[in-house]
Amino acid sequence: MDADIVVVGSLNHDLTVVTPHHPRPGETVLGTRHYSDNGGKGANQAVAAARLGGDVALIGRVGDDIHGRTLIAALAEEGVLVEGIGIDEDAPTGLAVITVDAEAENTIVVSPGANSRLGQQHIEARHESIASARVLLTQLEVPVDVVAAAVLLAEGLVCLNPAPAAHLPPSILSRVDVLVPNRSELAALVGVSEPVTPHQVAEAAARLDTDASVVVTLGADGALLIADGITTHVPAPEVDAVDPTGAGDAFCGALAEALSRDLGLGAAVERAVAAGALATTAPGAQGAMPSAHQLERLLNN
Ligand code: ADP
Repeated sequence: MDADIVVVGSLNHDLTVVTPHHPRPGETVLGTRHYSDNGGKGANQAVAAARLGGDVALIGRVGDDIHGRTLIAALAEEGVLVEGIGIDEDAPTGLAVITVDAEAENTIVVSPGANSRLGQQHIEARHESIASARVLLTQLEVPVDVVAAAVLLAEGLVCLNPAPAAHLPPSILSRVDVLVPNRSELAALVGVSEPVTPHQVAEAAARLDTDASVVVTLGADGALLIADGITTHVPAPEVDAVDPTGAGDAFCGALAEALSRDLGLGAAVERAVAAGALATTAPGAQGAMPSAHQLERLLNN
């Protein structure tokens, strides 16, 4: 199962309800429509990289159910190598319940299901493909000890999207080459309130105990790249955003794809910002990941 990009991460069935506004605790809101999509940060990022031409394998876990089978089939259709996806007899496929409001802001509750049963033994079993990958891309929708095991085996570049927000042990942070949090994930990593301005973001990032390059995604404001003591703001193109779900995943997948081709980090972040912007222009997660053609067209505009 050797691939240039190995993703260790989650697969989820996404159920999205579009609503005029998000319910407050105890409130019921009538939505306007709903749709299902294949999701999970690991699967989404794998598809994002594959659609842009990346050679990608995913290591993860689903339940023995229709959602798991649908997710695996969709990944295979996208050209992602799926031999590393195990089927768990005792837990259902992960589920994400998403609401998107009129401002295209979302809320997400994830029930990990089989994702939480990905274990260090499954990582060990894929030792060779992790070690030989040019890029290992991982997130925090699978157990943190699994992420730790994977990053320790990696011999190529390690990209970590620390999402959903969590505190990370030094054993992981010290092995990461490129850390890709959004503002709230950065705040959780360093234990401060969410930074707003690029200056505050750079200040928060400076408190991270890591030598990694840090790429903070800023939603419609693009991204801030902090590498080798230099901070660069990469603005996002203006797009008609309808659903931000999957924007961060498109960003991470595009970043990994570019890095697997030895593009420099600056050029990789420019592609990732454009890919993230494109993902907001279509509903859903995996379905919204841009094609190489769409990305080139936006970049050459
Ligand atoms: P996450 O989805 O992980 O919270 P962000 O919201 O920061 O991540 O979005 C990831 C990337 O997607 C941004 O860095 C940017 O490139 C792009 N993006 C997100 N929202 C918009 C938007 N409204 N307009 C343009 N680009 C966007």
